[in-house]
Parts: sequence; C-alpha cells; structure tokens
Amino acid sequence: MIVIMNSSATPADLQAVLQRVSEHNLTGQVTQGEHCDIVGIIGSGITNDLGSELESMSGVDRTVRISQPYKLASRAFHPQRTIVQVGNVAIGGDEIVVIAGPCSVESETQIVETARIVQAAGATLLRGGAYKPRTSPYAFRGMGVKGLELLALARAATGLPVVTEVMTPQDVEVVASYADMLQIGARNMQNYYLLEEAGRSGKPVMIKRGLSATIEEWLLSAEYVLAQGNPNVVLCERGIRTFETATRNTLDLNAVAYAKRLSHLPVLADPSHGTGKWHLVTPLSLASIAAGADGLILEVHPDPDRALSDGAQSLNPHNFQRLMNQLATIAPALSRTLGTVAMLEGLPTHAKIA
Ligand code: PEP
Ligand code: MN
Repeated sequence: MIVIMNSSATPADLQAVLQRVSEHNLTGQVTQGEHCDIVGIIGSGITNDLGSELESMSGVDRTVRISQPYKLASRAFHPQRTIVQVGNVAIGGDEIVVIAGPCSVESETQIVETARIVQAAGATLLRGGAYKPRTSPYAFRGMGVKGLELLALARAATGLPVVTEVMTPQDVEVVASYADMLQIGARNMQNYYLLEEAGRSGKPVMIKRGLSATIEEWLLSAEYVLAQGNPNVVLCERGIRTFETATRNTLDLNAVAYAKRLSHLPVLADPSHGTGKWHLVTPLSLASIAAGADGLILEVHPDPDRALSDGAQSLNPHNFQRLMNQLATIAPALSRTLGTVAMLEGLPTHAKIA
C-alpha cells in the first residue's frame, strides 16, 4: 500500500502516519513524489481497513493498494528513477554507462591491460569474474581471492570501479571488501539468502535475470535486496532460454523496456551472454540502448581466442572501440550522453556528445 500525502501536509502529519504504520508492526518508507510525499508500507497484514484508517489522518490525500507482489521495486512506490552511484559513476541517469572487461580475471597482465583498453574506449566501470559459475565442474572456475586482488590492482591502475560476481552468502564479505558493485549471477537470481547477504553488505548490487525467470520473479529478487534497506540495486537482462539454439540465449528486449516501466531501478543489458556470439554483440547493444537500457555490460578480451571462458562472445579491443563509436553516434538521437564521468546533481553536468 502507498499513502499519498497532500501538498499541504506538514512534517508532523508525515511523522504521525509513520508512527501509526509502525503501531501496526509495518514498515513505512518515505519517497518524494512529483508534488508530494509518498509513504510506502511493507509487511504482511495490510488491509483495506488500514487504508481507511490512514485516509482519516491529517495530511493524507489517499491510499492505494499496490497489486504487484514487489513493492519497493515498483514505480508506484517510487515514481522517480533511481540513480545508483558506483564510485564516481552514476547508473540510471542520462549517461549511457558501459561496464566492460573479460568474463574471467586470468592474470595481472590480462586484467590491467583490458582495463586500460576499455577505459581508453570510454567504458567507465570494469567487469571481471573471480568466482565463476560454470556449467561443467571441470571448466575454469575463477581465481578466487587472487582474482579479487588483481581486480583491485586494475582499479588502482585506471581508477575504474570494479563489478564482480559473488556466488555464496559466505563469500559476500570478502567480495564486498574488493568490489565496488556486487554481481548476482543469473544462476543465483533466486538464491534468497545470497540476495539478503548482498543487500546487507551496503554495496550496490547488480542482479542478473535468471535464465528462466519471469520479469516479476526478477523484480521480486530485487525486492529481497531492497528490503534489507539497500536502495542501490541495478537490474541486468542477460538473455533467457527459448526454443532457439542458434544463439546461446535470447536477449529479451521486451524485458528491458518493461522493467523500466514497472520499476524505478536502473536496467542494464548484457548482449554478450544474451547472444553468445561476438558478432551479434554490437547490433544487440545498439538495440538495447534504443529499447531504453541505462547501459551495457560487455565482455572484452585482448585475445578472445585464448580466453579461459566465454571467448566466443567476447569483443576484441578493435570491435569494442567500434561499438563505442557507434553508441556515441546514436546517443544524441536518444537524448543520452556517453563517454564522460557521470556526476550526480549539484556536481559538474554531463558533457553532451556533439
Ligand atoms: C558473467 O557475467 O560472466 C556470467 C557468468 O553471467 P550470467 O550469470 O549472466 O551467466
Ligand atoms: Mn561470461
């Protein structure tokens, strides 16, 4: 349920509503609507009677039941878009944010070299897996803590904030001590203890959509993190399983556009995993941005043929640079910007691409 305050409600009116909500053993979260405050109520046992009770209070305009099972993640609860700050990068604003790097961290040279290459081409965040969820137990499963240390070295060399996957609740502490944003992988989207632990880490959390998850299930996973009091959640569409076998997955652009409408959270697209083929990454990246994605996460490797994981879908430096040039060309047509360090309100404004 949300409580919409009227425009003349006083701070005391708002406090009284929050107090009444807590007397019902429910939680109230205040967000700023366009013209007034909105109180989102979460918890079990929300009734129509509670709605009538709150509507009789001073400063309350009306109450609205939220029909979706996710609440904090929904637009109704939080009408304005959420901007998630990761280091010096704002995800969810006018800037198209590009996160790039190898599927896996493989060595110091590989990750530092890749970080420099993607930064020079305009990426503002570095990706790289240290803990890898692999279909086969015999495949390369990541360097673990050593990989995290190498990511920190690459960050120190370039200043790029780092995004990396965490696979178990027990690893959240160590991964969060290195990462600027935690990645919840597609296979773990419904690992609810992991989501809660990631939420409690205080770090921004990027949640990849599960291979067979509905949009509603994906938003409910975001709800698990938000319910821990962590507002910094980023959604990532990375392709779903369909009948098609020509491509690794089917990048669901419906989900990109629909998640933007249903939720205030930033939505990224991952055309690397979404297609599985490097030559499809550029067209699907352009399409993702046209569909409204706030940015992209892309696999880039200095020598894709030798990558220890996901080489077939990794862009080489040349093709990554070409993609970035094409994004810069389409950005103004979509009233977006690219390639500058994004800043939140109050700080220097984004430079428009001419
Ligand atoms: C990855 O980002 O390398 C990865 C394993 O992603 P996903 O969880 O989407 O498969
Ligand atoms: Mn990968």
